[in-house]
Amino acid sequence: MHPTASAVPSASEPDRAAMSDQGAGWVLEIDGAKCDGHGICVLRCPELVSLDEWGFATVSSAAIDDRATARRAKLAVAACPEQALRLEPQGRGRHAAPPASCCAP
Ligand code: SF4
Repeated sequence: MHPTASAVPSASEPDRAAMSDQGAGWVLEIDGAKCDGHGICVLRCPELVSLDEWGFATVSSAAIDDRATARRAKLAVAACPEQALRLEPQGRGRHAAPPASCCAP
């Protein structure tokens, strides 16, 4: 069962959804286990998504720093038929650093 898309800012909504006015502070992430290599995402947001030699998507871990890229990232998330992509607040997704207590001796 796929999660509903309502947790992800809609590509058709104005940027009032969860993202800041500048679109900054978010990171595009992928669940590689869900990616089925359709390649639609790279057409929507080529600055953050690329395809590997087998056609599966990889995403940049760079924070989104402008509104236009944020809008294209949302389009990529919305277009993925496998719901493999998501936008996470910077520092809270898979690329986030572990909490300090995690690695304390
Ligand atoms: S659209 Fe989705 S399933 Fe297709 S390559 Fe991109 S992330 Fe993978």
